[in-house]
Amino acid sequence: MAVYKILHYPHVLLRKQSTPVEKFTASLKQFVDGMIETMNAFEGIGLAAPQVGVLKRVIIVDVRPYFENDSLKDWHGSYKFTCDGKQLDLPSPLVLVNPEIVGKEQEIIFPYDGCLSFPGVDRGNTTRWKNIVLEAKTADEKSIRIECNGILSICLQHELDHLEGVLFIDRVQGQVSENEVLADIEDHEADTGTRRRMKKLKLVDARAEKFDFV
Ligand SMILES: [Zn+2]
Repeated sequence: MAVYKILHYPHVLLRKQSTPVEKFTASLKQFVDGMIETMNAFEGIGLAAPQVGVLKRVIIVDVRPYFENDSLKDWHGSYKFTCDGKQLDLPSPLVLVNPEIVGKEQEIIFPYDGCLSFPGVDRGNTTRWKNIVLEAKTADEKSIRIECNGILSICLQHELDHLEGVLFIDRVQGQVSENEVLADIEDHEADTGTRRRMKKLKLVDARAEKFDFV
């Protein structure tokens, strides 16, 4: 298990397209475990493989903190999750390999978007779809289908965008100042509290790992 280093904007790999996973191996599961540990260490609700420098189509999402927050209940939404044709409760975290949106409807504006690759950047009002239908594989190659709206739908769209090199600032309504975004990230990185926390985490560079599914 490892906590991976998360690439920050404007790292060049964040703008690349990721390729599908073809080999569902033990090292894929090991990588997914590392992604989960990383998301938890940084208190995120989602993470995509390219954010740790691995350009494969793998995302994880855990929206439990939102479901537990009553002030956000307008965004709790609903979902239907099936795995190999069986309807189940939503796994936490949800691990999706080769996810694909197969249905979407009704554009909305979401007020609270944010991203672990943009620490210190607080911009909302991103354009998203309200309802989506998504198909994917689990890390052990079972077939998943999710119909959802609310925060789960928004979060999945955010993570899926990463696989195309699309970032949330691209979806913010109106002008986003590149200089302001870069300054916010630099302020966060320079903060001594942040530096101390990063040192304690003993971050691993996922790009240096020898994963056989890559
Ligand atoms: Zn993100």
